[in-house]
Amino acid sequence: MSKIKTLSPDVVAKIAAGEVVERPASVVKELLENALDAGSASAKVEVQGAGRKLIRVTDDGEGMTGEEAIQALQRHTTSKIESLEDLFSLRTFGFRGEALASIAAVSRLKITTRKEGKLSGTEVRVEGGTLSDTTEMGCPLGTSVEVRDLFFNVPARLKFLKSQGTELGHISEILAKTALANPQARFQLFHEGKLLANYPLRQDPSARLVEALGEEVDGKIFPFRLQQGELRAEGFAGEPGLNRPNSRGIYLFVNRRPVRDRLLTHATLEGYRNVIPKDRYPVAVLLVEVPPPDVDVNVHPGKWEVKFANSETVHRLVIQAVRGMLEETPWLKIKGIPQFEEIRERPTAYLPQGKPISLPLSWPASLRVESKGESQETGRGPVSGITFLGQVQETYLVFASPEGLLLLDQHAAHERVLLEKLSNDLFHGGIPKQPLLLPEVIELPSNESRILEEHLGDLARMGFDLERGGIRSFWVKSVPQILADRDPLETLRETIKEIYSWGKEGQLQNSYDSLLKMMACHAAIQAHRPMEKEEARALWEDLQNCRFPSHCPHGRPTQLRLSPFELEKMFGRR
Ligand code: ADP
Ligand code: MG
Repeated sequence: MSKIKTLSPDVVAKIAAGEVVERPASVVKELLENALDAGSASAKVEVQGAGRKLIRVTDDGEGMTGEEAIQALQRHTTSKIESLEDLFSLRTFGFRGEALASIAAVSRLKITTRKEGKLSGTEVRVEGGTLSDTTEMGCPLGTSVEVRDLFFNVPARLKFLKSQGTELGHISEILAKTALANPQARFQLFHEGKLLANYPLRQDPSARLVEALGEEVDGKIFPFRLQQGELRAEGFAGEPGLNRPNSRGIYLFVNRRPVRDRLLTHATLEGYRNVIPKDRYPVAVLLVEVPPPDVDVNVHPGKWEVKFANSETVHRLVIQAVRGMLEETPWLKIKGIPQFEEIRERPTAYLPQGKPISLPLSWPASLRVESKGESQETGRGPVSGITFLGQVQETYLVFASPEGLLLLDQHAAHERVLLEKLSNDLFHGGIPKQPLLLPEVIELPSNESRILEEHLGDLARMGFDLERGGIRSFWVKSVPQILADRDPLETLRETIKEIYSWGKEGQLQNSYDSLLKMMACHAAIQAHRPMEKEEARALWEDLQNCRFPSHCPHGRPTQLRLSPFELEKMFGRR
């Protein structure tokens, strides 16, 4: 007898179901997609036992005839595609024709449906994949799919389900994603009869953002949209201060399909590079529209992944879109920082005029922007309407302006200014150096000195000229100018440690950033240091000339403002 056996249809069905139905939330996802594909304007999701006991999705879509409902339950039956080519002109969420069959194989399922134009509807019951009953009956237009006792016949699967709270969390998450990408429809989620999430129709798309992402994003998330040919990246991205410890606040969609995609996540993070801390993640909703022929949606049974024909272009467009929104710094504009535009338009003291301002090394060249100014003026003119009032705790600078009271954190503000100056210098030949009259010696552990040897050129661009002295020692012949009166050797030691931590193939190209940040932090005016009027005003102005004036490289705000309105309110004048 052969050791190779044909699996029974029942086992085959359950194995296949495993790919699509991982947990209750996967059922909700598939049923909502079907509801939307049926043209529904509203869908209600009811669950019990966090979806283990019951999931019912009721829609007001086109419905099915009794015959269609029975067919729909078979594996590989779909009304959405006919041939493989159709996959590349797809306008529906479904196409695999296996969701209903899969769900039916591992639950007790009931479809109640009535098609437009029909007087009566149909109820179809299936248990563990076997059709048990079909009845004709009166019912509302649309479809209701009821899934009871999920995984009752695959106990092994039940073991993998998490706590009720976790499973319910996944379901809410699916609702949020579906609602975000489908503003034309209404959604409701009930658990044990209690309304858990409500997505009514809204005029203003950002209202749904608060419903999906929570109150804390209110007023802190801003729209962006960038189109290139038929490719479009749009959505909403949070201000840098709105950041989280994980990437769960990043919602990605391709042609309204929720996806998990490293390329898009990476591009979103790139957009925020240097604006939020390295280990934090922004909040963002990104909807990418790609012509269907340019994206393959059939790479994952749960339809969570896609493949782009031209991923490089998509990547670039997303970075540009997010970055564009951040550069507009709408949160500053909304709060009305005075002459913001005006100051930004002036040539900056730091940018060599007429040359392109480079973005950090790993950015594609096409993202580079031209500097705006034309004149050779580099001096500072007076900033109209701003008066420096003084310093609080030798840390915060206070300004009066027609637009209210402004506070600057002197260290954070200077850090931002220096970081932008340093990156600019780095990409225009290197950071200005100061030769040491008497070279200093640093001793390093042998492993560090070996790695260092390979990066002497990079360090030279950073302003540190080093020459090997002994086996483990180096002569330091010059240091970055901005660190000259600080403790440059300490910064150098930290820099070497950081380079060492990247290992032998050190990705220095991508990591100048962290070195520059470190240097900016070391060189910036510290807190608790007195500042004179001229210095304070210059810092204010330099900050306004930055590309990202609102936050320091670690994501802290550089400035706060109280508008006249807020002041009046606080003093009870309003
Ligand atoms: P797919 O969505 O990939 O086509 P499904 O197994 O999810 O596969 O559904 C099979 C078919 O059943 C669909 O193509 C559709 O014609 C029909 N169908 C499923 N759900 C609904 C619904 N809520 N309203 C109307 N038709 C539906
Ligand atoms: Mg489907």
